[in-house]
Amino acid sequence: DRPLLEVRNLCVTLPVGERKLYAVRDISFTLERGEALGVVGESGSGKSMTSLALMNLLPRNAIREADVLRLGEQDLLAMDRQEFSRSLAGKRMAMIFQEPMTSLNPVYTIGQQIMEMTAPSLAKTAKDIRDRAVYLLERIGIPDAAGRLKQYPHELSGGLRQRVMIAMMLMNEPDLLIADEPTTALDVTVQASILKLLMELRKELGMALILVSHDLGVVSQSMDKIAVMYAGELVETGPVADVLGAPQHPYTQGLLASIPAARDGGARLPSIPGTVPALFAEPKGCVFAQRCIHVQAECRTSRPPEQSLGETHLYRCVMTPDSHRLSLATPPSA
Ligand code: ATP
Ligand code: MG
Repeated sequence: DRPLLEVRNLCVTLPVGERKLYAVRDISFTLERGEALGVVGESGSGKSMTSLALMNLLPRNAIREADVLRLGEQDLLAMDRQEFSRSLAGKRMAMIFQEPMTSLNPVYTIGQQIMEMTAPSLAKTAKDIRDRAVYLLERIGIPDAAGRLKQYPHELSGGLRQRVMIAMMLMNEPDLLIADEPTTALDVTVQASILKLLMELRKELGMALILVSHDLGVVSQSMDKIAVMYAGELVETGPVADVLGAPQHPYTQGLLASIPAARDGGARLPSIPGTVPALFAEPKGCVFAQRCIHVQAECRTSRPPEQSLGETHLYRCVMTPDSHRLSLATPPSA
């Protein structure tokens, strides 16, 4: 059986002035039906570019390449933008963005926009669609849902607008929802309640989810798998418990250490010094070499291999679990 989503060696490049930016490089992962993947990484690491590449929504001048990009039986590489948006977008695959105002049309009511995205068919009458819209809006925590259908986006708060967007994207019961930091524009308590409802609805609908998040706590509590991105690469991925329980890539280790008392109430460690580089040339060695406390000579000259720990826990680094233990025991003197 095919996985729901199969991504192999996805690359995104785009021209920036005279130069070519390597925004996403050789990303591979799979997602089963109903599975939830959390994508983490610092600003500029390529999380949004990856999401947009899957949804065929990259900037027009970007180039997307991959060996495999499939949703079930559908070859996404064979579909152009129009075909994708006609047959899959908002139906089998949907995406919600950070700022809901930009995705809602200000001149139509909430109800009109929901009806439009769910065109009545033989199976669904206009009344069915309206009932479902009201059900979803209520489910996602919108009081007086029926009344909201007559309102315009500007009449709603940011939190309500984002809830409306989520309800809209769930109307067609997509197989996969991609949520790119869907709650970062909202205040913290609203964030938590929206995420909780999103997780419940995901289970209810058996929908797979890719959640881009800055919050490792959310990812560790609610996701099945995690993907850690750095400078356009996927440096480590696997089941959440495996990756966060025994992180292998020095970047993942640094990320975890930078969370205050993240685990075991342990001592606070400094966060990783430096910033994510934007790559304007294909890197020769490891993308993390400049910031890595375990860096070795070969890391600067050749790309580290992808290694695995068990079947599903993958990381791109020269270190093996054994060499790790050694070098952690004897910190570098530099
Ligand atoms: P954040 O956490 O800030 O949302 P991100 O991980 O989503 O970051 P991306 O937006 O995917 O990062 O950016 C990846 C790279 O692509 C970065 O170097 C960024 O500067 C660059 N980039 C993003 N959008 C564009 C664009 N429209 N044109 C050119 N470069 C872009
Ligand atoms: Mg982003």
